[in-house]
Amino acid sequence: MDSQYIIQFNPKLPKLSKNEQAVLKLLVEAGKLIAPVFAEQEKQLKENGSLYPKGVSEKEINQAAKQDPTILSPYTVVEKTNSRIVAIPYHIKYAQLLKPVVEKLNQASRITDSREFSRFLRLQAKALLEGTYEEAINASIKTKTYILDVYIIPVEHNDDAVFFAKAAYQAWVGVLDTEGTQRLSSYKSTVLSVSRRSLLPHERIDSPHPVKTKTIDEVLLAGFVAKSKFVGLIVPMNFALVAKYGSEFTIFNQVNNLRLKEQILPTFKKIFSPAFRKEFTIEDLRRGSLRYVALHELAHNYLYYKNATQNLQDLFAVIYELAATLLGMRIAGSLLLQDKINNKQLESMVVAFMARSVDLTRQSEKNSTMINYAIGGTIFINFMLESGALKQKGGITIANFMKIFVSVHELSYIVEHLLASGTRQEAETFINKYGQIS
Ligand SMILES: [Zn+2]
Repeated sequence: MDSQYIIQFNPKLPKLSKNEQAVLKLLVEAGKLIAPVFAEQEKQLKENGSLYPKGVSEKEINQAAKQDPTILSPYTVVEKTNSRIVAIPYHIKYAQLLKPVVEKLNQASRITDSREFSRFLRLQAKALLEGTYEEAINASIKTKTYILDVYIIPVEHNDDAVFFAKAAYQAWVGVLDTEGTQRLSSYKSTVLSVSRRSLLPHERIDSPHPVKTKTIDEVLLAGFVAKSKFVGLIVPMNFALVAKYGSEFTIFNQVNNLRLKEQILPTFKKIFSPAFRKEFTIEDLRRGSLRYVALHELAHNYLYYKNATQNLQDLFAVIYELAATLLGMRIAGSLLLQDKINNKQLESMVVAFMARSVDLTRQSEKNSTMINYAIGGTIFINFMLESGALKQKGGITIANFMKIFVSVHELSYIVEHLLASGTRQEAETFINKYGQIS
């Protein structure tokens, strides 16, 4: 078993029925079995340096994709055989490894008391077996939140730095946090009811689509999500699919606790003075971290620019993720104006984000998945230093929150402009100026 790509948690759970407990157990077993599939993908990534065959140029892949568009599908492995570039569907390539996962999911589907959940489990199993991912993604968005939460569909991710296309195998299994889910949906209704003026409205995909939101206490993470450890994840990422089916986003309480303990608190202690630290409790920072992630994810709904991936290419993810964080902070500003959050909560968000960014920068060499966020955080901090919102003296950071919020507006404008209509060259110049990780 590849324990490297499995994280198990033991959170305090609400009381589950016998049936729910039995289903949960099967789902955890199914989820663990995804780790070896992801391990195969990681192996390919390491051996080839990309998710494409070694020694094959971007141009050649684009050429071949004209004949066979499935080469750029999120769900195919690209190989070179007899000097031809071919695409093999995931469900065929990994059929052997996926079989036991499918069996467990079908077993869970047969025993669960919830008919709707049963149908959804069956569709996830079918997607793994036959490649019908869209059907499963759509079902997941449309299925009402249930006490158990599971997602074993491959998700698109940033490791495909060449085309930003391929999906990674992963599984999460958890139990719904009812209170957290309610809080999140109250943010959502505020955020989504505020119609936002766009910089370039015609460039933005603006179809109002359903967004399903939930907060869970995870029991298991496997594959890609165990490696990336996102506190919030929005799926699908593909703009066309979002426009067609909507999206769903999940907040992971246990990963947030882990992030707080391993990244945010140690860095917080290191970079801020004792007097400054006294102003924030651990609970402030825990909630600050959850809140900035939640608003970051909600902000993504406003940042679907049609040509952004094409224009910015390999630099897209840096700009896109930073834009979401900044817009999230501005949305928090709107929540403050409406008395939905207070000053301390707004400040805690920024402090948690800065502490995490500094930590990501420190470990960016060994954690390549997070490099885009590390660069984004570096841009944020350097921009704040330049504007005078942050000052550094003897390794200690001094923050002026009033100035930070003014600067956030400026930076957000620049970054969203790059996203809406910038060229790769413009993005590169900007990243070189502010995003150098020393
Ligand atoms: Zn994001």
